[in-house]
Amino acid sequence: MNLNELRTWSKRAADWVHDYRSGLRDRPVRANVAPGEVIAALPPMAPETPEPMEEIFRDFKNIIPPAMTHWQHPRFFAYFPANAAPASVLAEQLISGMAVQAMLWETAPAATELEQVMVIWLREALGLADSFAGTIHDSATTATLSAILTMRERALGWQGNQKGLSTLPTLRIYASEQTHSSIDKSARIAGIGQDNICKIATDATLSMRPEALDAAIRQDKSNNFVPAGVILCTGGTSVGAMDRIAECIAVARAHDLYVHVDAAWAGSAMICPEFRDLWAGVDDADSVVFNPHKWLGAQFDCAVQFLRDPAEQVRTLGLRPEYLRTLGQDEITNFNEWTVPLGRRFRALKLWFLLRAYGLEGLRTRIRNHVAWSRELARDIAQMPDFEIVTGPILSLFTFAWKNDAQTEQLLRRINNDGRIYLTQTRHDGRFVIRVQVGQFDCTRADVRVVLDVLRDLT
Ligand SMILES: *Cc1c(COP(=O)(O)O)cnc(C)c1O
Repeated sequence: MNLNELRTWSKRAADWVHDYRSGLRDRPVRANVAPGEVIAALPPMAPETPEPMEEIFRDFKNIIPPAMTHWQHPRFFAYFPANAAPASVLAEQLISGMAVQAMLWETAPAATELEQVMVIWLREALGLADSFAGTIHDSATTATLSAILTMRERALGWQGNQKGLSTLPTLRIYASEQTHSSIDKSARIAGIGQDNICKIATDATLSMRPEALDAAIRQDKSNNFVPAGVILCTGGTSVGAMDRIAECIAVARAHDLYVHVDAAWAGSAMICPEFRDLWAGVDDADSVVFNPHKWLGAQFDCAVQFLRDPAEQVRTLGLRPEYLRTLGQDEITNFNEWTVPLGRRFRALKLWFLLRAYGLEGLRTRIRNHVAWSRELARDIAQMPDFEIVTGPILSLFTFAWKNDAQTEQLLRRINNDGRIYLTQTRHDGRFVIRVQVGQFDCTRADVRVVLDVLRDLT
């Protein structure tokens, strides 16, 4: 393929995307394929000679979309959304065409500076203190890993990176059971060890108990462990748990611990001032992550980490060998030094397009609608004789079960085989429950009401 053919096929691809996205309501939300079906449809080896694009594109249409779960389907109520608003898709096309590698300021000045400005736009949009700077990672997991590595180095007097951990004291990290598994994964990768995540008890509202946090830290100190930091959650993945940020940070501060707040999903809602009580006190955190690639509408991948003192993270993750120096510019911001990988995508453009094309008010309206429709749906499911709301709506997420628990899992399978909607499960208090989150960018109230139809039809 040459550039002229790229132009022709890009236009065909744009037409295809238009038809695909506008036809999503007619497709089952979740892929209905058995494992191995796609492998069976593909030749075992790459071709030795060029194949016509006409054939490649035909195979794409025949094999790929039917074996996809459609994340942009308006009735996708599973997991959390991965919204790709059309304006952000367009930005991704331009980035794909330019294909820059934004590891250094010099390798992509516009990408670096637009990223700096987008972090500030979002900081202001979320109502965060102007003491935060930040960067854009691929995922919340990478941001959390970066924060945990920074906690580790800070607690070890910046010696872990140099000496390795074997001769250094055992570190401890504190989080509730409601925090995401990315915290466990990061503790593994950081060499802290999953056993050294001290899971702090929660209260009836699923919030970390500050006095239990304080007691755990004191006990660890008396056992000669070295507390390194606290991870708090604003919107846990399972049922939306919210730690009381201000009270927990006060405890962490009293012990000089680094605090990272994981608001991967719920952070987007903070563009609406009325939800900000849910993370009151967040301005005192050292690090906060949220994923515009979930609810806000910036195409995956896009995870923003705000940092009160980026120098600590740069000291942990930054390396500047001669071949990565920018001659004559020692003070320049090179975002690879703020994160784990060297190479970086240009992710700020899709935020710029998104924020301008819909405006903060347009994005707020969507989130407010999702929250309102979710509450309405939960209320109506609660009225149905066979169902019970297990955890009520936190923002736009709630869970429910059949009153006959043993049948809940079977029901979920029937729902997803039906295809009109897509829901997923979690375990809460030992019970298998069905999660509902309302958050797809294009979903309407009518789409949300289909959940009731499906429940009625299948029970
Ligand atoms: C989705 C989610 C994550 C993980 O996000 P990635 O960007 O996929 O790494 C972490 N924490 C919470 C609370 C989440 O909802």
